[in-house]
Amino acid sequence: MSSDEFPTDHPAVVTCGLPYANGDLHIGHLRGYIGADAFNRALQTLGQQSAYVCGSDMHGTPVAVNAEKDGVEPETFALEWHDQYESTFPQFNVDFDNYGHTHDETNTELTQEIVRSLDDAGYIYEKTIQVAYDPDADQYLPDRYVEGTCPYCGEFARGDECDEGCQRHLEPGEIEAPVSSITGNTAEYRERTHKFFRVSEFEEYLTDFLDDLEGTTNAQNQPRQWIEDGLQDWCITRDMDWGIDYPVDDGDTDDLVLYVWVDAPIEYIASTKQYSERVGADEYDWEDVWKRDGEVVHIIGRDIIQHHTIFWPAMLEAADYNAPRGIAATGFITIGGKGLSTSRNRAIWAKEYLDEGFHPDLLRYYLTTTGGLQQDVDFTWEAFQEKVNGELVGTVGNFWYRSLLFAYRNYGGTPSRAELPGTDGEPDIRPSGLSDEVHERIQDAIAEFGDAVNDYSLRGVGRSATELAQFGNEYIQRHEPWKLTDDDPEQAAQVIRDCVQIAKAVAILIEPIAPDTAQGLWDQLNEDGTVSETLLEDALRAPPATFDEPNELFAKIEDDEVDELTAKLDDRIATAAADSEEADTADEHGDEDAGDLEALADDRISFEEFQDLDIRVGRIETAEGIDGADDLARLEVDIGLETRQVVAGIKQLHDLAALPGKKCILLANMEPAELFGVESNGMILAAGEAADLLTTHGDAEVGERVR
Ligand SMILES: [Zn+2]
Repeated sequence: MSSDEFPTDHPAVVTCGLPYANGDLHIGHLRGYIGADAFNRALQTLGQQSAYVCGSDMHGTPVAVNAEKDGVEPETFALEWHDQYESTFPQFNVDFDNYGHTHDETNTELTQEIVRSLDDAGYIYEKTIQVAYDPDADQYLPDRYVEGTCPYCGEFARGDECDEGCQRHLEPGEIEAPVSSITGNTAEYRERTHKFFRVSEFEEYLTDFLDDLEGTTNAQNQPRQWIEDGLQDWCITRDMDWGIDYPVDDGDTDDLVLYVWVDAPIEYIASTKQYSERVGADEYDWEDVWKRDGEVVHIIGRDIIQHHTIFWPAMLEAADYNAPRGIAATGFITIGGKGLSTSRNRAIWAKEYLDEGFHPDLLRYYLTTTGGLQQDVDFTWEAFQEKVNGELVGTVGNFWYRSLLFAYRNYGGTPSRAELPGTDGEPDIRPSGLSDEVHERIQDAIAEFGDAVNDYSLRGVGRSATELAQFGNEYIQRHEPWKLTDDDPEQAAQVIRDCVQIAKAVAILIEPIAPDTAQGLWDQLNEDGTVSETLLEDALRAPPATFDEPNELFAKIEDDEVDELTAKLDDRIATAAADSEEADTADEHGDEDAGDLEALADDRISFEEFQDLDIRVGRIETAEGIDGADDLARLEVDIGLETRQVVAGIKQLHDLAALPGKKCILLANMEPAELFGVESNGMILAAGEAADLLTTHGDAEVGERVR
């Protein structure tokens, strides 16, 4: 890794979080794959040598649990999904240089080799721990086989991750009030010997690593807090059959497989290796990237930050591999403000989108430019229509079509090219053929594009293109060339020459985000080759002298179409909500809602136990977001006898400015906890995934006890 700006002299690899091979892809998944694809294309436009690799995640309990539901072997189950993903991604122009899977030979061998080297170097030790066990099913309950309460934030958590609360990775045995997801019974804890990786030894290394890390701020800040809280060693084995066998045979642990989060990120390396072996190391050397001085960039969902900023770099360092240069963690996609839900059918499925006849570039544009990478992005068909019609049809498409049509009708192509001395019909760089204003404006756009890539801002990349097209529209409007063709033909030709150059530049700038459409413009301009292989600096290289009549490259989305799609989606969500039997398919992004109503608890508690809860009426005095935490807010709550500071996961769900003065219900004798360096002393009670805050409806006084 170098500290130079992109493009550097070293090869780069861009990866995105591996999809668990266990269910249909929806736009929540696509955001990451499209985003990483666009980033890789943008690097190449800058002149950076780069490859884009990924693979299906075949192992782990998310796959095993779903295969069991279907009554098939995990391998058969996962391979089927793997094949489907492999054919779906190209339909969205997600152009992997290699797409492997974690169960293939390359990854299995490389994983075992890396783990063996960690073991040889003394980074792995054995420890006996308490592991959840279901006595009825007579099996251990690794990861998603167990559900319960997060010990850090008190939210509902599934096995190894607190995906609805603080996003922490949970170690075996950590989950509180464990329940078996196989039988629904209370799980018991049993002693087992497992392998641990000494992550705690890497605190200093990781602190330095985070100081140098590029990408989004959430990926830099969250792990700092985890390190400050003290790193625990990491259990890297599981009591399962499905997975990669622990490679060192020492009797005690030979029935264990590696935890899925060991072999999953190693697929980034394995997939790069497969690509390198296919094209030859002369063209692209995976060892340059991973072992010498390459640039490794990971685009991931924000629910897997800990795996990529703590475990993964520690493992790479211990095994003598390169550290990632950049990690960008995306926010989630919501629909109409609500989390995507497979069980409630609240999603736009990849196949569904294409079946509706929309071009993939429209979705690519929407998903990459609607918010910053780390922001949550809301999808509605109306918002989609507004963005497509406003920015792509109204600004980019309109400018392209009107300028090329005018150029074609009046000049048969780019005007007065033949009149310029010394061009001889060869393409040349001729800023002199452009007006100073346009030459400078395109130079600015080129600089904005480069800055955006170095800031990991896809929205910035998109903006460099749309704002240049916007300028083009204003420019043509300001100069009214249609009035000049007779009176001042030279000036008319100048304006149109400028506009054709702007159109070409916009095509190069927008290619990472809308590759097909950019190629369409490229072909209309009669340019040679592909726009995807064209460098940014070519935005100032003269376009061909002649081209044919242009077509409109974007089509407007009509209101009735949107009404119909919205009705269809609403209807589907309503139908699914009514059908509470529908199975919930878990996925990588953790963007599930709580599903249908939770089953009532079987275990009754006594009145005395209830009385142990000291629940009070409170009044919120202040409410503010906690820096660096996506979801958490710090509240001060007056409970009569004193004022409590409380941390609540409501930052995205409530207008914090509107909360002061509101009454709430607070569990006062909750154990204090520290979240993002802020002490939480009590718990605000709230209902459902929208965190609807509980309150009183009469005149109960602040401080009164709830009984
Ligand atoms: Zn938690």
